[in-house]
Amino acid sequence: MPAADRLTDIGNRIAAAAKAAGRAPGEVTLVAVSKTFGPAEIEPAIAAGQRVFGENRVQEAAGKWPALKDRHPDIELHLVGPLQTNKARDAVALFDVIQSVDRERIAAALAKEMDRLDRRPGLLVQVNTGAEPQKAGVLPEDTDAFVARCRETHGLAIRGLMCIPPIDEPPAPHFALLAKIARRLGLAELSMGMSADFETAIAHGATMVRVGTAIFGERETPV
Ligand SMILES: *Cc1c(COP(=O)(O)O)cnc(C)c1O
Repeated sequence: MPAADRLTDIGNRIAAAAKAAGRAPGEVTLVAVSKTFGPAEIEPAIAAGQRVFGENRVQEAAGKWPALKDRHPDIELHLVGPLQTNKARDAVALFDVIQSVDRERIAAALAKEMDRLDRRPGLLVQVNTGAEPQKAGVLPEDTDAFVARCRETHGLAIRGLMCIPPIDEPPAPHFALLAKIARRLGLAELSMGMSADFETAIAHGATMVRVGTAIFGERETPV
């Protein structure tokens, strides 16, 4: 199926899930996760009207997105993968939203580079809702204090929270937990839900769903 048809299908499913939850379809932004795919696959999605894209690696994104953004200046690019401090400058220069703020050193590095480059990407804090040792993100019980430090110590405006639930568990309790923490903190954006579970995420209040496979097809290189 061409990317345009898949995007139409996902858009319809997002609208139906929002409606079923008593929400307006416009409350949910589709972030098309294009990691591992090149301009040949991305351009048709842009031609079909998709404007918000996500990548999980700074270096990979820096290789392909500057040229695409030059051609399509209204693209909004999100970083959805882990960030290292030595990539903070590149990330601030390239991304419009960084969804993976998850530790003090990254918050400090982002604050510094945002001042230096005078560029202020939107920021989300990644929460490790399953407390998985190998996974990025602040622990649920540490989120309030971390968001407060981002704001007060580093002067960062945090717009919302992001999570990637454990692959071997039902996602709904994780989405519910993320929504509860965001509500408590008065944060508007909730980035949750991927190809397999974005409708469940929308039922729990997702404002951004990050969908890769269902738009671009299976990735050859697992990441
Ligand atoms: C790859 C990725 C996605 C998209 O996953 P699919 O299952 O292909 O839809 C979403 N979020 C993050 C953080 C990812 O790395």
